[in-house]
Amino acid sequence: MKIDKELCGICQACASVCPRNAVDITEHEAIVDNQTCNNCGVCFRVCPVGAIIIEEKAS
Ligand code: SF4
Ligand code: SF4
Repeated sequence: MKIDKELCGICQACASVCPRNAVDITEHEAIVDNQTCNNCGVCFRVCPVGAIIIEEKAS
């Protein structure tokens, strides 16, 4: 998945629900590890601002 950094408020909701622990929250941004993320969509459903974009994994 991708995070729209303009929309993201770094609320940590995605990181706290991610079953794979693929989101790292820093002081300035939420960073997805796309090696770990499997695009399951769980974070997409909890993001309060619609900043998460789920996409097919490029192989
Ligand atoms: S799509 Fe799933 S695996 Fe990827 S960051 Fe979101 S909750 Fe985690
Ligand atoms: S849930 Fe949405 S707003 Fe919150 S840190 Fe994740 S991407 Fe950013």
